[in-house]
Amino acid sequence: MLCRRKMICAVCGRESEHRHFRSITMVLGEEDMDDRRGGWAERYMYCFTPRCPHCGYSAPDLSKASYRARIVVKTRAYADILSNKALPEAAITQLCTAAIAKIEGDTKGVARAYVWAAWAMDDEKIPDKATEFRMQAFEAFSSLGPADQQPVVMADLLRRAGQFDQARQFCLNALQDGCDLHGIRAELAWIDAQDASVKTAEQARKMRRKRGW
Ligand SMILES: [Zn+2]
Repeated sequence: MLCRRKMICAVCGRESEHRHFRSITMVLGEEDMDDRRGGWAERYMYCFTPRCPHCGYSAPDLSKASYRARIVVKTRAYADILSNKALPEAAITQLCTAAIAKIEGDTKGVARAYVWAAWAMDDEKIPDKATEFRMQAFEAFSSLGPADQQPVVMADLLRRAGQFDQARQFCLNALQDGCDLHGIRAELAWIDAQDASVKTAEQARKMRRKRGW
């Protein structure tokens, strides 16, 4: 259920009201290869990260802020993100979240925020920005340790960004490492077809059954 709640910002101390889901009703639907889930609430989660309208602090819970987050919110670089009129508000919020996650050393958080920013660009039909954010997400994933990387999502980021040569090499390396074979094989087939369109996990499963992997 979509609700509104008031929060006091831990950075500037002022109050603001934000939309949030009190409980997420799972609506099953097609899950994309980059982990974008099918239900409406999950598909549009990127729209519901709160951002303080007074100072621009962005976090799932505005009432808490680390020492580093308080500093980064006041930097010129953060102000530049907030004043970017070329991007929709939801994408700006995710870039703010990425900047805070970066200063906090939360690389997974950086990767997720850039993936969510790319989804916002897909929905707004701004493909060059979607590509840019996918590459930044890939870079963040690449700097994680092997246990935290998500090879299928990473292959999908490169393919959707149209980086077919890099995507093919990434998939071949992943296959050698024995990673998530059918997802990677499906990605390879789409890369060979130079297909940068959104693909679902169900399409990958169908391909697996058809080709007998
Ligand atoms: Zn604030």
